[in-house]
Amino acid sequence: MTRTLLGVWAHPDDETFLSSGLLLDARARGDRVVLVTATRGEHGTDDPARWPPDRLGAHRARELDAALAVLGVTEHRWLGYTDGTCPLVPERTAAERIAAIVDEIGPDTIVTFGPDGVTGHADHRAVGRWARRAWRAAAPGATLLEAVLPRGFARRFAEINETFGVFMDGPAPEVEADLHLRLDGERLDRKIAAMLAQDSQTRRLVEGVGLATFRSWWAEEAFVRRTLAGAQAA
Ligand SMILES: [Zn+2]
Repeated sequence: MTRTLLGVWAHPDDETFLSSGLLLDARARGDRVVLVTATRGEHGTDDPARWPPDRLGAHRARELDAALAVLGVTEHRWLGYTDGTCPLVPERTAAERIAAIVDEIGPDTIVTFGPDGVTGHADHRAVGRWARRAWRAAAPGATLLEAVLPRGFARRFAEINETFGVFMDGPAPEVEADLHLRLDGERLDRKIAAMLAQDSQTRRLVEGVGLATFRSWWAEEAFVRRTLAGAQAA
């Protein structure tokens, strides 16, 4: 039976940084994968004069298409919220929109940010809350995977995390992951290709650390698995 994975993220590139291996494995098994992105990430630049929001949003939408093509993901939905404003969106409204997608596609697994938003970004935290609420309301039998920092990530890459401002206010305490993916070979090649397809976000990182370090920096993915007590798994 075909399984369905729903990913719920804040900005284009969150899915690729945090879950490429998961998506590649799902597609390799023949699972259906649907991704939802809350905003177009239209404020994600150090150079807003060159990249005004409309231009950057359109550009990042094209970059996301290219990345998803590399990952073999063909189904994607936008929520159309404004980058940086997710905490201002009424949580119930956003969760209901996600729940409507959940109702439509019936995911076995939902993947999103853990409560710390992985990087501490307020949009990430908000979108994780929406996705958890939609999960409880619309798919209590599904498994929720929350993306967390891979073990040792904050320590091993402390210097470059700091240089490139990966964390908004320092790394969250490490939690024990239930699912830990260590990518190498072709899987890692594809993840890196998907990341490079989102050049507006990754070029500065690759140029700053070199491709070899960039590859090991993002080679691991970790998730905490949650189920609701009393829910019947599908
Ligand atoms: Zn993000």
